[in-house]
Amino acid sequence: MEKSYDALIVGAGPVGCVVAEQLAKKKGWSCLIIDKRDHIAGNCYDRYHESGVLIHQYGPHYFRSNKKELIDYLSQFTDWIPGNYEVKSSTRGELFPFPINLLTLGQFFGRTFTAEEAQEHLDNIRIPNDDPQNSEEFVLSRVGKELYEAFYLGYTLKQWEMHPRDLNKSVCGRIPIRFNEDIRYVDHEYQLTPKEGFTEMFGKMIDHELIDVQLNTSFEEVRDKIKPNAATLYTGPIDAYFGFQYGKLPWRSLDITFTEFKEAYKQPCVQINYPNDHAYTRSVEIKHVTGQQSDNTVISYEVPTWDGDPYYPVPADDNAALFKKYWKLADEENKANKVYFSGRLARYTYINTDEAIEMALETAQQMMNDAE
Ligand code: UDP
Repeated sequence: MEKSYDALIVGAGPVGCVVAEQLAKKKGWSCLIIDKRDHIAGNCYDRYHESGVLIHQYGPHYFRSNKKELIDYLSQFTDWIPGNYEVKSSTRGELFPFPINLLTLGQFFGRTFTAEEAQEHLDNIRIPNDDPQNSEEFVLSRVGKELYEAFYLGYTLKQWEMHPRDLNKSVCGRIPIRFNEDIRYVDHEYQLTPKEGFTEMFGKMIDHELIDVQLNTSFEEVRDKIKPNAATLYTGPIDAYFGFQYGKLPWRSLDITFTEFKEAYKQPCVQINYPNDHAYTRSVEIKHVTGQQSDNTVISYEVPTWDGDPYYPVPADDNAALFKKYWKLADEENKANKVYFSGRLARYTYINTDEAIEMALETAQQMMNDAE
């Protein structure tokens, strides 16, 4: 007879791991985590490449958060190293600091800027709009046409195969515009990378006697066989759970090629963006972030595609409307069968790892409260 579990957890990514850890530790529930892939950690999965270099298999994860409680929680499972998240953009034949800051503006316009001078300059070139409705209007209202076309338009077309005017403003809004010389990619207070990598961290998190993991197992294989005593957490794509009955939600994926070089470093920083050249959007040398010492290095090149595993939901109004229809079904399924939907794929939301972990902690709490 199959062993019975209190909770079935579909997906061994950040959300599945956090929820299992919480349910096992706080509630004493036995948990079975399944994943169709042959590893845990979802898209945070990192591994050693044949060259011995630690790589991020599904694209770079620059962990950051503004919440000390979240760092404290994760510190149970990992030590940290500082996050060295520096990005440059290759445009007009030069490498510019990116996001746009005073140094970028100086290099672009061939003069120096104080913060006030930069404000004044952008005020002259931006296209005023108090209420931008999409990513194009958002960027134009901040930096004007020339910078938009140099840094954003081509990258966004390549990344999404959609025009920025058809994407929510939150997409390009992810990128700050700075009136200082801060060259870091993100603004968050805590910018830290797990010292031994993400896979190690999530592995430690679920290393518990009440948690079993079954890899190479899809939800379809178990959905009629494994009936948990208390609840199910589903972290896969929501449209797949419901048999695509309202049609498919679009998911953007990445085709990533890893190339080894026999030198310690190839690039000046972890990431170079190519808004206007190449089929790939960016080249990533994750060694700059992992801090690994090695005579070799590996660069990954990301080509966006509509095929392959879902990486990004596509933030646009019609997709949000379609998701809403699925979410109604999810709500009914939750009430009828105690199935919980959480994470980037199940909620069709473009969140970062820290936000996914916060969402997972909330979902776990909800599952525990509902079981009282
Ligand atoms: N973006 C851009 N130019 C860049 C980098 C980003 O126009 O050089 C836009 C693009 O639309 C992208 C979005 O900003 O999808 C968010 O970028 P981010 O680097 O946060 O994307 P992620 O790392 O999540 O792929």
